[in-house]
Amino acid sequence: MTNYIQTREKTKAIKKRLVAVYGAKNVSVLKGTGTASHWITSTVYIERPSTCICSEEERGRWPNCDACRAMSRETDQRVEEIAALALQELGAVFGTYYSDDYTDSTPHDCHLINIYYR
Ligand SMILES: [Zn+2]
Repeated sequence: MTNYIQTREKTKAIKKRLVAVYGAKNVSVLKGTGTASHWITSTVYIERPSTCICSEEERGRWPNCDACRAMSRETDQRVEEIAALALQELGAVFGTYYSDDYTDSTPHDCHLINIYYR
């Protein structure tokens, strides 16, 4: 018996969890379309750390100083953990893909994470 859980359901479960942590206005979880329909893209908007030393010109969506980069990395990891937990609760797993690099035979999750600064 196959237990196929729709990407739509996975997307909903991940969003619910991320919203509980980051707030509804800071979270977007989308399912891909067409040939990318197994892909899930989670986007989380966060505030810059108080220790940020980016100049005004550098304050785009992306991190530039060490403090911003560290916070982006931590948030990325956290989002990955939260999403994994959400799917685990659902009894689901991410779709997987294999890299074009033939020395890399490990499956990778079809999960794209964007961490943006406001
Ligand atoms: Zn910064």
